[in-house]
Amino acid sequence: MAAPTKVAALGAERVFDGRALHTDTGLLLREGHVAARFALSDPPPGVAVERVDGMLCPGFVDLQVNGGGGLLLNNDPSAEGVRSIARAHRALGTTSLLPTLVSPGRALLERAGRGVAEAIDGQEAQALSVLGLHVEGPHLSPARPGAHDPAAIRPLEPRDEALLCSLSAGSTLVTLAPEQVEPAQIETLCRAGLCVFAGHSEAAAEVVSRARAVGLRGFTHLYNAMSPLAGRAPGIVGAALSDPDAFAGIIADGAHVDWTSFRVAFAALGPSRLFLVSDAMPPVGAPAARPFDLGGPPIATRGEGDARHCVLPDGTLAGSCLSMAAAVRNAWRHAGVGLEAALQMATSTPARALGRDAEVGVLDAGARADLVLLDDALAVRGVWVGGARVD
Ligand SMILES: [Zn+2]
Repeated sequence: MAAPTKVAALGAERVFDGRALHTDTGLLLREGHVAARFALSDPPPGVAVERVDGMLCPGFVDLQVNGGGGLLLNNDPSAEGVRSIARAHRALGTTSLLPTLVSPGRALLERAGRGVAEAIDGQEAQALSVLGLHVEGPHLSPARPGAHDPAAIRPLEPRDEALLCSLSAGSTLVTLAPEQVEPAQIETLCRAGLCVFAGHSEAAAEVVSRARAVGLRGFTHLYNAMSPLAGRAPGIVGAALSDPDAFAGIIADGAHVDWTSFRVAFAALGPSRLFLVSDAMPPVGAPAARPFDLGGPPIATRGEGDARHCVLPDGTLAGSCLSMAAAVRNAWRHAGVGLEAALQMATSTPARALGRDAEVGVLDAGARADLVLLDDALAVRGVWVGGARVD
C-alpha cells in the first residue's frame, strides 16, 4: 500500500503569489509543496482548510546575507554557522537565502563552500532553505572597497576561477568588478553555471556592456560602491538603469540609498528587475547588538528600527540591520512602491534573478510551501517552511 500523502490547506483573506494579490484564497499543500490555489468559496472536497488572519506570501528570498543571529559568515563558515544564520533570518520571514562571504581568501572560500554544501544536504529536515553561496569579492575595484578590507582585494587568477567553478552546492552568485577581470573570465564563470553580478566597481558603461554580452546578469547593491551616473559619464549606475534586462539588488534602509534615488531606480527597472536585499550583518535577529569587524576597525550600528544600519568608525557604510520584511516596509512606506511591487521585489524577483523561481519566491503549483504571514503593517506573524509552521 502506498504511504498516505500529506495534504493540508491554508486560507487567508489575502494571498500574494509572488506577483499579484488574490482575495479569499486557499493554498492546497502536498508533501511540502504548493499543489494548487483555490477560492475559499469552493474548497477541495475532503480537505480541512485552516484559516489564518492576515496576508499569506511566499517566504522572502534574500540574495545577500553576510550574517545574522550574532554570527558573521566570514567568521563562522561551518555548516552550523550557516544554519544559525539561516534560522535567525527564518524567524524574520526570510525562508530562502544566500549566505554571503565578504572578500574571502581561498581557504575561507573553500571552507564556506563545504559548510554551505553540508548545510544544504538534508536541510529539509531542519526546515531551512539555503540556496547556495554569494561570494562578494575579492576581485573588486580597489577604488570602491566600501567596508571590504582593501588588502584583501586582488585579481582573479586561474586558481580562483577553478575554485569558484568547483562550488557545486546550490547556486553561486559572484560579485566582481567587470573592469578588474577579463570578459573571457566572466564567460567561464557563467558557462560553469555561476550567476555573475557587477559590484564594488568603477566600470565605464562600455565595460559593463562587454561583460553583459558574455553573461553578466545583474548589479549588486545598486548605487553603493559604484561609479555614479553623470551626464557625460553614465558609469555603472547609468549602465544598470538603462539596461533592458539586467537585475539589480538594492538596500532599502534609507541609509545606503536616498529614497529619491530609490524611486529613480524603481522607475527605471520596475519590480520585476529591481529586488530587495538585506545586506544583513550579525545584529539582525540577534538579541543584543555587539560590535563586530570584517578584519579591520570595529563596526557599530546606527539608527533605529527599520533604518538601523552598520558603519565603520569613519562613517563608511558596512551593511545593514535590515530584515527583508523591514526592507519591504521601507520600500512601501518611504519610496512610494505599491504593496504588490514591494512584495514582488522580496520574493519572485530575487528568485528569478538566481534562476530559482520555479522553487521559491512564488506560490505556484510545484513551488515549495515556504510562506510568511504578514499583518496590515507588514509585520511577520507566522512562517512556514515546507508546509510546516516553524515560528
Ligand atoms: Zn558590498
